[in-house]
Amino acid sequence: MAEAAKKLLQYIGEDPERDGLVRTPDRYAEALLFFTKGYSEDIHEVVNDAIFEVDHQNLVLVKNIEIFSMCEHHMVPFMGKIHIGYIPNNRVLGLSKLARITEIFARRLQVQERLTQQVANAINQVLQPKGVAVVVECVHMCMVMRGTQKTGAMTTTCSRIGLLQDDQETREEFYTLLNVRQ
Ligand SMILES: [Zn+2]
Repeated sequence: MAEAAKKLLQYIGEDPERDGLVRTPDRYAEALLFFTKGYSEDIHEVVNDAIFEVDHQNLVLVKNIEIFSMCEHHMVPFMGKIHIGYIPNNRVLGLSKLARITEIFARRLQVQERLTQQVANAINQVLQPKGVAVVVECVHMCMVMRGTQKTGAMTTTCSRIGLLQDDQETREEFYTLLNVRQ
């Protein structure tokens, strides 16, 4: 990977041997491996034994989990917030695990639409809740830094499963608590 990064430096007209760049290929490789560490993570290992039986069937909503991912079309970052809601079926997940599950899918080359769907599907799979809704709001560096340079443009994607898709009242409760328009 470092060799490839060194080539890239040459292709953009840089001198990979100059002082500031000597260790850059190594650092770049290390950073890229971190940004894509989700490939080597497994949902079941992450969730482990953090599922708890609880007599609770009302909406659980965790808002504003920070998210950092990489656009698969340009290999540059996109970042923002993810909001996750679910209706438990007497089983809840340790709250920190929602962020950990998000990381598995965010730390890969992604498109925001698929990331949103994968997080919703994963929670649905491990928890078998009555419903799941995931909203992702991100700014994409490939939009901000090149071409159109729409610095304020935020992309919102949403994925809903079960009651949070089919039942209007439940869906409205989710969006009211989320305080975003549907
Ligand atoms: Zn892109």
